[in-house]
Amino acid sequence: MSNRETDTDVILIGAGIMSATLGILLKELSPDMKINVFEKLSSPGEESSNEWNNAGTGHAALCELNYTKEKPDGTMDISKAIDVNEQFQVSAQFWSHLVKTGLLKNPEEFIRPLPHISMVQGEDNIRFLKKRFDAMAENPLFTGMEFSDDPEVLKEWMPLIMANRQDNEPIAATKIDTGTDVNFGALTRMLFDRLVKEDVNVHYHHMVQDLKQMKDGRWLLKIKNLETGKLDVHTAKFVFIGGGGASIHLLQKSGIPESKHIGGFPVSGLFMVCNNPEVIEQHNAKVYGKAKVGAPPMSVPHLDTRFIDDKKSLLFGPFAGFTPKFLKTGSYMDLVASVKPNNVLTMLSGGAKNLSLTQYLIQQVIQSKEQRMEELREFVPNAKSEDWDLVVAGQRVQVIKDTDAGGKGTLQFGTELVTSADGSISALLGASPGASTAVHVMLKLLANCFPQELENWESQIKEMIPSYGKSLMDNEELLKHVHQYTAEVLDLNEVKPADHSPEDLTPQI
Ligand SMILES: Cc1cc2nc3c(=O)[nH]c(=O)nc-3n(C[C@H](O)[C@H](O)[C@H](O)COP(=O)(O)OP(=O)(O)OC[C@H]3O[C@@H](n4cnc5c(N)ncnc54)[C@H](O)[C@@H]3O)c2cc1C
Repeated sequence: MSNRETDTDVILIGAGIMSATLGILLKELSPDMKINVFEKLSSPGEESSNEWNNAGTGHAALCELNYTKEKPDGTMDISKAIDVNEQFQVSAQFWSHLVKTGLLKNPEEFIRPLPHISMVQGEDNIRFLKKRFDAMAENPLFTGMEFSDDPEVLKEWMPLIMANRQDNEPIAATKIDTGTDVNFGALTRMLFDRLVKEDVNVHYHHMVQDLKQMKDGRWLLKIKNLETGKLDVHTAKFVFIGGGGASIHLLQKSGIPESKHIGGFPVSGLFMVCNNPEVIEQHNAKVYGKAKVGAPPMSVPHLDTRFIDDKKSLLFGPFAGFTPKFLKTGSYMDLVASVKPNNVLTMLSGGAKNLSLTQYLIQQVIQSKEQRMEELREFVPNAKSEDWDLVVAGQRVQVIKDTDAGGKGTLQFGTELVTSADGSISALLGASPGASTAVHVMLKLLANCFPQELENWESQIKEMIPSYGKSLMDNEELLKHVHQYTAEVLDLNEVKPADHSPEDLTPQI
């Protein structure tokens, strides 16, 4: 029996970084807008956006080797790296606006400067890295990137990784000091604190169970209050499905034609967390390696200094794996429940095309801790088992869909919005580059779903995000200004000391 009814302008499903970003953008642009948020857990940022569930990399393509590809003609394609970098600058500008206007305080609680390093081993990979460096170094977006294969320089950049190696080991790296470590969990919580102050109604322990469009175009949502067990009914003109991995289920329930022929492929993750303060202190960077042949891009190993709760920590991973859950707190039936008559062929084709990936992920899941330590030792040759613990990371649900280029059941590695033709509902699917590009993605959503309002909002968006609608790569003056402005406001000019106290790190598996 229905218990309660509300009617608002907007309903945001899920209290992760995506809903938080959209909510704040809407409140900045239209302060009178009435917004309801429904989250099934007890607080914001508990799923993928939580600091222990993602890697906290401010993805700006400064170190992730999978954003650049060597083309068959031998030239280096850096177009994806350029896109990702431009998108990260949009986030940095919006966060700076929020700090500058006092809506967010203490930027060091959610963002810290940290060198980003790409490290490769073996002659072929060094040749690739040098070629990539030559292509990127010419681009103003990547100013400051350095390349070295000199062991003495590499020892300075990454002493922990270079310790106990022979000087003749073929190893090279690029380094750039303008990288960041972002605590997306803290940022999500700070944004939700702000939303509550802006009169947004945030309902925790509320799980959206069903949604349908009414004749007048508004959406009706059936939402279970998990504390009372009662079913509430809420309506809104616009709905954002920000349910993380579970967005796909809700999108399917909406019944919009755009939801058909889409499936999800869940990839689980594990981090190794260092518990030895002496080891933690020897590293100060995010060091990304190259994916092994046959391994998916999300399994690229990296050794990351992280700043969580003002403490310095050290994480390696994430190791990709497989469980059928779409959320860490999801159900083992999630994958099966997502198979519908309209996507069964897409899913089967996706499954058939990605047998080797599935096999790879299953092999990864059954690895012992010692086998994982062997992977870590490719980075830290003398890593000791007792210094490292395993923690479970978040779930990433990759989109499977039919595409012209890849045919039926093509696995996508990006982040994408699925929006109804009338713009009254939009869902965010996929996981990469993810949280780092939340502002860019939500601006895209505004363009798709609020085209009339956008005309009036544009000048304000340009004030908040000076590069809005422009390419920073083609506007070097603006780029310089944006770099200086965001570094100053977000306090990114120098690395701050942080304590480390490994005893109270994380829940162990
Ligand atoms: C292992 C891993 C590493 C990553 N590393 C990085 C990184 O280094 N940098 C980066 O930028 N990104 C990274 N990402 C991606 C990033 O974490 C995600 O893109 C981002 O957190 C997604 O945010 P979200 O708001 O869409 O989803 P989430 O944070 O997952 O939030 C979704 C929320 O919706 C709620 N919900 C779901 N269904 C319902 C329902 N029916 N009713 C009510 N509430 C519901 C959930 O409880 C959850 O709180 C990583 C992700 C993973 C898993």
